[in-house]
Amino acid sequence: MSRKWKLWLIQQGVWDIESMPLAAGYLKAAALAREIIRSEIDIRIFSFKGSDSIRYMAKSLYFEEIPDIVAFSTYGWNFNKFGALAETFRQINPSGWIVFGGPHVTNQAERVFRLYPQVDIIINGEGEITFPEVLSAYIARKSKYELYGIEGISFKQDDKIVITTPPRPVIEDLDTIPSPFLTNTIELINGRGGFKYDAALLETNRGCPHNCAFCSWSNDTQKKVRFFSRERLHAEIELLAYHKAPSIVLCDSNFGMFKDDELFIDDLIRIKEKYCYPCNLEASWSKNKSTTFFNIARKMKLAGLQSSFTLALQTLNSEALTVMNRSNMGFNNYLDTVKWLKGEGFDCFIELIWGAPGETSESFIQGYDQLSEFVPRISVYPLLILPNTHYSENRDEYGLVTVRNNKDDFEYVLSHRTINIEDNHQIYRFLFWARLIVENMVFRNIWLPVRKLTSLTQSQVLLSLDRWIEQRSDEASLTLKGYRSKIVNDFDISVISEALHYIYSDSPNLSALFHRWWNEELLPLIPIRFTDFLSEIFRYDQLTWPIYYIPGDSKVKLPGDIKIILYNDEQYYVREKQKFFFNIPSILEGITCSDELAIERKEIEFSIYYKSGFYNYIDNQEFTPLYIGKARLNEEPNIKIG
Ligand code: SF4
Repeated sequence: MSRKWKLWLIQQGVWDIESMPLAAGYLKAAALAREIIRSEIDIRIFSFKGSDSIRYMAKSLYFEEIPDIVAFSTYGWNFNKFGALAETFRQINPSGWIVFGGPHVTNQAERVFRLYPQVDIIINGEGEITFPEVLSAYIARKSKYELYGIEGISFKQDDKIVITTPPRPVIEDLDTIPSPFLTNTIELINGRGGFKYDAALLETNRGCPHNCAFCSWSNDTQKKVRFFSRERLHAEIELLAYHKAPSIVLCDSNFGMFKDDELFIDDLIRIKEKYCYPCNLEASWSKNKSTTFFNIARKMKLAGLQSSFTLALQTLNSEALTVMNRSNMGFNNYLDTVKWLKGEGFDCFIELIWGAPGETSESFIQGYDQLSEFVPRISVYPLLILPNTHYSENRDEYGLVTVRNNKDDFEYVLSHRTINIEDNHQIYRFLFWARLIVENMVFRNIWLPVRKLTSLTQSQVLLSLDRWIEQRSDEASLTLKGYRSKIVNDFDISVISEALHYIYSDSPNLSALFHRWWNEELLPLIPIRFTDFLSEIFRYDQLTWPIYYIPGDSKVKLPGDIKIILYNDEQYYVREKQKFFFNIPSILEGITCSDELAIERKEIEFSIYYKSGFYNYIDNQEFTPLYIGKARLNEEPNIKIG
């Protein structure tokens, strides 16, 4: 053969950042472990950002060199784009092979082949053994219509009849999959010699013993949890730390559940002591908090390893929890965990799902308000009906009526036996403000004091903003209503990111708008003795908004009262000499869900420091706290910022 075959492995993340291509890395490392593939196929990984257009991806993939095989790692957010790219590829290379894999297409062959007939092969389940077998068949010049001997795939016999081969058992010994880090399969270094990604992705295990009705991990094949060895993980995190990975994001389903997780943390802490990296560990924490979880959290705190702890309650409605198969943890246990985490100084927030069967609009709002008295920062995700889940496979039982939008391939719930379409419409309006304002921390400190000092609930405050904006016809209100409409009418959740860009890029104007709402709608409802105090917290929330500034972009101006400073080679923005009539930073530091508020009028002046670079992370709320302004009582920036 005169040249190697060319295979492109293609991923696109959901966020607008350069995500580490972990799935493609596993596949490439597994494929290259076979000598025949190493010698016959040139494999390249293409990892696109969430905002990369189809035109850009098509140009990058097909217009410099034409591959022989394209393999797409599909999820609901990129499925249609990859379908379009498959169509283009077929025109450019009529005999090339097109492979789709990933949880969104697993066991969905009829639908995928119907929607995108250009797709040749679907990998069902884990791909690290199956995909190299497909490549070996290609090298052997087998017909793509006769791949009967490969377990765990679907293909089209004679380009017509869908054939699904027997499922492939899961990979019991995960260490048999070559490490994409230790084999140098995933690039770790950027052109400037730094770590290439904002965060390294890592799996310590695969599988989940739980059974949540909305999750595709709840199927039988994923039940058994399999682990990578401690030695391998140690070598991987040491390599990542050596290359100064700032953050590690674990892809495990329930970190903190297993004894091995504590050993992993012990190793991570020792490695951090040696290399000073990573600084941060994010994870989907175990649903039930055990001694192991508390040990891990304590050790992380002592080691200065940061994390934000998500408590994935999903709903407080007992009927919905039962249907969801998540009724095995009481609200009080969660509260104890919240109190413990807060007492230890950890950031924590709560996740809820709107729209689960058994839920009603009243029970949802009631649960939201009940939780917000303890943890105001609540993320609300609409229920998506994903393939291979209990909900998807039992939709008639729940009377599910769903719709897909024209951007992604998720099924959004319109109605079911306990939610009608009007209620759903109303909660989607609420959801817009809850996600924009609370989850993304446009206002973050005002919630607990308002709850403690007035009779207003968090949902009432958000709905008052909704009603007030609804009556207005100024440009800013019309723009916000336009974004709201895209969520309510088109189920386009990605619009939250656009709304955030809008708010922060025109912050003086939007700040003034929110201020008018506060003065006109909220102040009249607040007992007069608390209005000054709460208005100062409201002003503090706005003054500490992250600074949205894109160097070189003439459309976005740095606010006139901002100075730029360098600290430890990093750029910060500073607002100097901000006067308040209460010591707001100190009051907020001591605020907890149970204590009385100590409100003492005391004039104070401080500067506010903001980390630069927020525009890169604006739509990733896990990073937002790093960019929120921090008050400093003097102007010495020698205090830890961030
Ligand atoms: S939601 Fe989490 S706990 Fe539930 S089945 Fe999925 S991975 Fe497991």
